[in-house]
Amino acid sequence: MPLLHVRCAKCRKMISTGLDVDFETFKDLTDTERTLECPRCEETQVWSLDDVDRSVFKA
Ligand SMILES: [Zn+2]
Repeated sequence: MPLLHVRCAKCRKMISTGLDVDFETFKDLTDTERTLECPRCEETQVWSLDDVDRSVFKA
């Protein structure tokens, strides 16, 4: 299953959310704000499902 990524608002790198789900599971996730610390710049991200890079599901 693809590992979900979001783009860091500060350094613009794609960072792993730690969520590893298929598209069916993704669609059923609760759309709430989650937080994540960027491993590159240590900026704390607040992200929601809209921020996820969905290109991983197209393969
Ligand atoms: Zn960053």
